[in-house]
Amino acid sequence: MSDEIKQNQLWTGDYYNQGTGPNDIFDTLKEECGVFGVFGHPEAASLSYYGLHALQHRGEESAGMCVTDGNEFHYHRGMGLVKEVFDKDLLASLTGSLSIGHVRYSTSGDSRLTNAQPLVFKYRDGDLAVATNGNIVNAPKIRRELEEGGSIFQTTSDTEVVAHLIARSKKPLVEAAKDAFRQIVGGFAFLLLTNDKLIVASDPNGLRPLSMGRLGDAYLFASETCAFETVGAEIIRDIQPGELLVLDADGLHEDRFAEPQRKALCAMEYIYFARPDSDMNGSNLHSARKRMGQRMALESFIDADVVTGVPDSSISAAIGYAEQTGISYELGLIKNKYTGRTFIQPSQELREQGVKMKLSAVRRVVEGKRVVMIDDSIVRGTTSRRIVNLLREAGATEVHVRITSPPFKNPCFYGIDTPDRKELIASSKTVEEICKEINADSLSFLSPEGLVEAVGGGNVADYKGGLCMACFDNDYPTQTDFGGEEQFGCGC
Ligand code: SF4
Repeated sequence: MSDEIKQNQLWTGDYYNQGTGPNDIFDTLKEECGVFGVFGHPEAASLSYYGLHALQHRGEESAGMCVTDGNEFHYHRGMGLVKEVFDKDLLASLTGSLSIGHVRYSTSGDSRLTNAQPLVFKYRDGDLAVATNGNIVNAPKIRRELEEGGSIFQTTSDTEVVAHLIARSKKPLVEAAKDAFRQIVGGFAFLLLTNDKLIVASDPNGLRPLSMGRLGDAYLFASETCAFETVGAEIIRDIQPGELLVLDADGLHEDRFAEPQRKALCAMEYIYFARPDSDMNGSNLHSARKRMGQRMALESFIDADVVTGVPDSSISAAIGYAEQTGISYELGLIKNKYTGRTFIQPSQELREQGVKMKLSAVRRVVEGKRVVMIDDSIVRGTTSRRIVNLLREAGATEVHVRITSPPFKNPCFYGIDTPDRKELIASSKTVEEICKEINADSLSFLSPEGLVEAVGGGNVADYKGGLCMACFDNDYPTQTDFGGEEQFGCGC
């Protein structure tokens, strides 16, 4: 494809809007996926629709659900938002009381419908549907071994690797699933559906969030608890590392496929990904982010006139910073809510201006002011520089950047789509160099200890507060070296 055509092609999906490709305007990290499961509710499809809608921020590329009435599967998957993929008539046709659903972000160049989940298979004992959030580090190695043994794959998704492992086992389904989960390494939250069972599993480190809720007699499962609030369900608890739950005609069976390892829930869920109205590990996300801002103020106070947060994820932290310092919190940056998922890729010159499609600085708030700008992370540094420049163009006399995470230096193996290490600005530059690069007057990052204390609200008994911090400190909670066959990013 010529550069000219590339320059003018219609980009679909959030790849352009929020992707991590070198041409993307917004070099933020990409969320992973979201899962939602229902056991024992006559309106499982409708509940899933609203639950998936609440998880939409975790994946805008495709959506799907599989529902069973006990005899057969009814399922639908499509590209786009939940509201675009399903309509009233379609939902009415998805009859049954058990369901699993999924929203997905694709990795760049991989936005095919065949990878949309849940994936549905026929295996020797009947129908099987699988939905997952996360990444299996050793999936390429297992896949190669399976292919050498004659297996044929239809997708590039990790999920299919697990389905093959289950299908090849001679054991009953639950034991086969346990065996399959023991063979895979990574961060994952799995929902498996048959015509009479729902199986729920979390990796032995609990890297990806997964919670259980109740609505009357029904059990619900979701990547984030905000989905339970949406459907009026009660939060019961988080699924524990290595845990495997089986729900069938006899009710809920609590089991496990592995002993829990070091608890290591993804720190970026707290910092950036999850919705502020969700709870994880007993902490509300808005409150945790506020504490990050307060801690940031204690670690790196700077005298200024206003504090502003980069919307939406940094608003809570900015409120915390302002409360702690007594500097007034103001809406110095406004997000344009209507930047949809389809854009014409602009020229390089316009790309520099492109951040304005998503964010605007409020001139009357920042003009003539010394501004503290709170943001959650710096990936390549290009977005930070553009936002600092927005504030300067709107008349800010000083822009001091405070980042509520430690420097992001290492790629993720567990479901977050990150650029190569060499593209992560903090992997090769000092804080002073990054400060200069993003055109800020000063720059500070939250310390790892500050992050752990803020997330836990003072409960830091677990190693690293029960968090994975590998993208900051290179201390990965699992094996990551599989002889060059390991997989980064998101494998959903
Ligand atoms: S490496 Fe970073 S982004 Fe990946 S799971 Fe760990 S904390 Fe989350």
